[in-house]
Amino acid sequence: MDLKSLIREIQDFPKEGISFKDITTVLNNKDAFKYVIDQLSEQLKDLNVDVIVGPEARGFLMGAPVAYKLNKAFVPVRKPGKLPAETARYEYKLEYGTDALEIHKDAIKPGDRVAILDDLLATGGTVLAAAKLIEELGGQVISLNFLIELSFLKGRETLKDYHVETLVQYD
Ligand code: IMP
Repeated sequence: MDLKSLIREIQDFPKEGISFKDITTVLNNKDAFKYVIDQLSEQLKDLNVDVIVGPEARGFLMGAPVAYKLNKAFVPVRKPGKLPAETARYEYKLEYGTDALEIHKDAIKPGDRVAILDDLLATGGTVLAAAKLIEELGGQVISLNFLIELSFLKGRETLKDYHVETLVQYD
């Protein structure tokens, strides 16, 4: 399936100079949505993972359906202050300032084999933060899977210690 033709590109969103990849047009096409979830599931089916982790918010859209399909647990990683129970937090640098992600401390058990799913790999900072949280809780990060990779931002270098797979690449 030609996913690229279904991914809508919005110029100068959210700010000038950015060509935003809008996946709502993929989700809104039942055959394309199914194809994406089937492909991501196929990449993971032999890796013997226990848990699928998805970072807020579009990681939920990829991660939860794949977890359901593979009959695995799903664990959300969220922006600070959203998760109600005791959390672990990882702070990471942005161009200006810092951002942080949180996970429930009891969501990952030591030794759990974990895959992280997100819609898009840009610099890799978001998923690296999620990977660090999982490792802090004793989990093993087995695979990082994305619908889209913005190759020119070199996220794979940031994630060089991990197995990375993507369905569509933009050079
Ligand atoms: P990174 O941390 O720089 O790899 O950025 C990836 C995160 O930013 C993902 O969670 C994406 O959802 C979001 N993101 C960055 N650029 C885009 C885009 O063009 N379309 C959709 N999401 C984006």
